[in-house]
Amino acid sequence: MNPILAVGSVAFDSIKTPFGEKNRVVGGAATYFAIAASFFTEVRIVAVVGEDFGQNVAKVFGGRRIDLAGLETVPGETFRWKGEYGFDLNSRETIYTHLNVFEKFAPKIPASHKSSPVVFLGNIHPTLQLDVLDQVQKPKLVGADTMNYWIERTPEELKRVLKRVDILLINDSEARELAGEANLVKAARAVQAMGPKTLVIKRGEHGVLMTRTGGGFFAAPAMPLEEVFDPTGAGDTFAGGFLGYLASCDEVADASLTRAIIYGSTLASFAVEDFSVDRLLRLTRDEVAARFNEFKELTHFDVV
Ligand code: AMP
Repeated sequence: MNPILAVGSVAFDSIKTPFGEKNRVVGGAATYFAIAASFFTEVRIVAVVGEDFGQNVAKVFGGRRIDLAGLETVPGETFRWKGEYGFDLNSRETIYTHLNVFEKFAPKIPASHKSSPVVFLGNIHPTLQLDVLDQVQKPKLVGADTMNYWIERTPEELKRVLKRVDILLINDSEARELAGEANLVKAARAVQAMGPKTLVIKRGEHGVLMTRTGGGFFAAPAMPLEEVFDPTGAGDTFAGGFLGYLASCDEVADASLTRAIIYGSTLASFAVEDFSVDRLLRLTRDEVAARFNEFKELTHFDVV
């Protein structure tokens, strides 16, 4: 089992969907990632919260395989984000982003975590992602996320990150924008040429597409669910399930990568069933195993 060092946001979110509204609930990319990945391996969070985060640290991260030595609490307010979803839950508008304590965030990796074998660079400024990579001793596996914001504003820094990343997890519009190519297959090839050996393209309710090591692709659908309340964090939860499972495997190869895609999809399918991290906090290993098997049935067909 390989521990994962994960850097990213821990936040208070306000969320409005057609099914309800929640204010100041726990969110953040690193939060979703860590809870999901901790089902498979130990996660070492590197992030910052304000003093207002209080008891949420224990409530959300306590009792799990989550090491908090790299989670700083500083005076001030926690990062805050508000998003509003349309009726089909695919379109999301960011109402506000208040960086708060995140504005002066400089990741500090505790000495005990510098040799972490697996590193996940959440969606933060590429310069901070590079800063984390510079502080760790050569990890076996580096996964990363990014978004349009950085693709547009800091392309040169992002290119330097991509050269040092093994697996990049981004959504389809980000892949197209990064590559400057509308066709997703060509875009994937172009992004691979920038550094990542493996590209995982998240396509929301349409599932996920991953490049295979010898060329070609692996695709998985999203689980058709009757109840979807809040898609916030689905991508980060996917990344946690994916990289968490991979870190628990002896080797990174097509077989483990494809199973990791299904574990990522499994964890993400739970995250959307309730607001914030509520469903993930109630989630059991048996439920994960049962839904993993449902995915097998969902995607299996016989060739006559
Ligand atoms: P996702 O739905 O996977 O895109 O992730 C949503 C989560 O990302 C929310 O819980 C937010 O708190 C967090 N988030 C939103 N914008 C940012 C940002 N600019 N930097 C870091 N985290 C963010």
